[in-house]
This record gives sequence, structure tokens and C-alpha cells, in this order.
Amino acid sequence: MSMARTYVSRPISKEHHHSETLILWCSDPRLRGKVLEDFVAAGKFDPYDLICLPGGAKVLATPSIEGTIVGGYAQVLRGLHHFNVVVLTMHEDCGACGGSKAFDGDCQKEHEFLKGTLEKAKQAVLALSPEVRVVRAVVNFNGFDFLD
Ligand SMILES: [Zn+2]
Repeated sequence: MSMARTYVSRPISKEHHHSETLILWCSDPRLRGKVLEDFVAAGKFDPYDLICLPGGAKVLATPSIEGTIVGGYAQVLRGLHHFNVVVLTMHEDCGACGGSKAFDGDCQKEHEFLKGTLEKAKQAVLALSPEVRVVRAVVNFNGFDFLD
């Protein structure tokens, strides 16, 4: 039996990768593709590294084994690609936070929670790597709120 190769639509660069930013992004399928592309363009974050996980930056907001693991991955990526900006994101109606229904449909309450959680995550990043610039952003259904 022979192996069949399926070709990529555009060649993958053979140059060693350098990135300007690391983005923590939720794994929610609604946020893939064009939404992420628009976010990267809006923040001028390209070239970037991406860690995609349930809840995005939420994992860093409170001490946990998962947060320690993600922090470890981030440090490995920084050693490889030398980014100096960490972009922390969370989004509206995130299942990892109970969805919008957890806030009884109160958008302001949900946004305050997202902003507060992003601030805790920011402080955790700065405690580990005070030299990086941290950008917090809330991904909404109709756009992005950059908090830094
Ligand atoms: Zn989510």
C-alpha cells in the first residue's frame, strides 16, 4: 500500500519562525477562521503564536495545574520565537465561563467579569515575566474591545 500526499494550498515557509506576539484564544469553534484573522489584523499582531484552549486567558486568572501547564507552554514558545507581547483574550458567551446565561443576560455584568478575569490573568503573566507587554481584549459578537 502506498502513501498518498495531500498538498497544502500555499507552501509552508522554510525560514525559522519569529513571532511578535503570543495570543491566548478560546477554542470555541465560532471564533475560528475569519474572526481570528480580523482580530490579528485589528491589533496588528502578525506574526503571532497561538495557544487555543477553553476559556482563553481564563486559565491564567487563578492558580491551577492547567494554568501552570499553559504558562510552561508559553515560556517554551517564547524561547523559540522571542515574542515580547502577550495578548490575553476572553469572549462573550464563553462556555468555559458558563455562557451569557450565567450572567442572567446582563451584558454589563458579563463584561465586568471578563475584564476582571483578564486583569487577574495579566497580573499572573507580569508576575512571571515583568518585561513583556500585556494586551487584554474582549471578543464580542460584533467586534473587539482592546483594554490596553
Ligand atoms: Zn469560549
